[in-house]
Amino acid sequence: MADFYTRLKKFEGQTLVPTVWGPDAVNTPMIRHWVETMGDTSPIHLDDEAARATGRDGVVAPALMAQTWVMRTFVDKMANNDPSPVWTDLIAAFDDEGFTSVVATDSDFEFFSELSLGDRISLTEVIESISEEKKTGLGSGHFVSTVKTYRNGAGEVVATQRWRNLRFRPLEAESVPEPQRALRPRPALNVDNAFWFEAAKEHRLVIQRCANCGVLRHPTGPMCGACQSLDWDTVDASGRGIVYSFVVNHHPQIPGFEYPLIVATIELEEGTRLIANMTGISPDDVEIGMPVELDWIDADPDLTLPAFRSVVRKDI
Ligand SMILES: [Zn+2]
Repeated sequence: MADFYTRLKKFEGQTLVPTVWGPDAVNTPMIRHWVETMGDTSPIHLDDEAARATGRDGVVAPALMAQTWVMRTFVDKMANNDPSPVWTDLIAAFDDEGFTSVVATDSDFEFFSELSLGDRISLTEVIESISEEKKTGLGSGHFVSTVKTYRNGAGEVVATQRWRNLRFRPLEAESVPEPQRALRPRPALNVDNAFWFEAAKEHRLVIQRCANCGVLRHPTGPMCGACQSLDWDTVDASGRGIVYSFVVNHHPQIPGFEYPLIVATIELEEGTRLIANMTGISPDDVEIGMPVELDWIDADPDLTLPAFRSVVRKDI
């Protein structure tokens, strides 16, 4: 075990992802998709005049989109090319010792300047530290901290992100060598979202509410986007909504799911949206705008997720 940790420590300071450039420059369509999905209503992201009124030269991308600009493309991901030999070696080292699962635990961003249309963004990621083996609720593992540095075309650092993963040996693997059946992937729980999944276990769909201004928000997060308050509580959703959008997933097929899999964006009557599966309906019958009501998927003893079914009109 000590030998293994010595082997891990050698990765500290090494470059995990050598400088890679995002496939596209900062652009309006991507910004529009992002702000609509996230419910970010600040006009400085899409309205040039509004942005200039704040002293900027024109629209700026939301700071948190830094990550979006450098995400690997679908084709690149499907090709399964590791970003570097260091990456390949590190994953192999963990796999050799049975630390086959990974969960992101922390993401700590620092922003230095705003991104404008046409900016090209690059990413470099360096391994900062690797912890000794720790026991966690998910299983024993090592925390891997990396620092991602985002730069613009002029080479200036626009943001840094301290990113921490837990590489762990899943508990099921420690106690039951051959799992009976594939389970759905676990959500990446953290202090900002655990309450939502806990409520789901009790078949309660809750919506986070700012305790200061009352604005509802989803996905869950620590801060109100409207008034920046960190105080919040929750309200129980009525469970009624509509299909705002949906896709039918055929490939790739991940164990634990049934296919074809309907993945819908549901707009609740309270106004927030969430991603959920649909039950009791064939993919051919799903329509945008269709009224739906809450159902539950009790996937396994540790995972319950809200789902939605078409509202049956019994009077017809
Ligand atoms: Zn608020």
